[in-house]
Amino acid sequence: MTESSGAIRDGGSRPAGQGVGRGSRTQRAAFIDRDGVLNEERAFVHRIEDFVLLPGVVQALRALEAAGYRRVVVTNQSGIARGLYTEADYQRLTDQYRERLRHAGVTLDAIEYCPHLPDAPVPQYRRACECRKPGPGMLVKVIRALEIDAASSFLVGDRLTDVQAGRAAGIGRCFLVRTGYALSAEAVAAADGVYEDLLSCVQDVLSTPGRPA
Ligand SMILES: [Mg+2]
Ligand SMILES: [Zn+2]
Repeated sequence: MTESSGAIRDGGSRPAGQGVGRGSRTQRAAFIDRDGVLNEERAFVHRIEDFVLLPGVVQALRALEAAGYRRVVVTNQSGIARGLYTEADYQRLTDQYRERLRHAGVTLDAIEYCPHLPDAPVPQYRRACECRKPGPGMLVKVIRALEIDAASSFLVGDRLTDVQAGRAAGIGRCFLVRTGYALSAEAVAAADGVYEDLLSCVQDVLSTPGRPA
């Protein structure tokens, strides 16, 4: 589900960074998990008081923007299906942190979330969907909407399911960071690299701009 139709328009109205020439789908993107990558991992974050931006995040987003990467957040939000908070709560928090980032001088091009869960307590969200990571649905939707070249894009997450979603969507490189969940050996083995945090990951990616995904 899209946070709002304005989510994509908000970024789309900005001048797009020009990707390295590869036909028409040359827009590169950084797909970024939310909890544990952008903000501190806490159980089912849904209030701004619990949304604590991790160090270096603003700098990382700024660097991505300067380098012409779209900034896309993709987040599983099963707390909605579990009845812990509502979609309206989720939207409020999204508006709040987006505004906070805007004040810091950075924007996000799209924010996608999945409110579903198989066997969810809340019937309307009880679904085995394609959007919940490790499914690729959220990524595929943004790739189409923003005409992103998936192969020259990358993903940053803190769980195996983030990497799996990225692979399924054809994202060129899928990385993990140590700012969220403790990484399983399986997750580390599946990733293309493991970094201390988002900023160190982004700096490494941007320092090798000519490298094909
Ligand atoms: Mg996470
Ligand atoms: Zn879903």
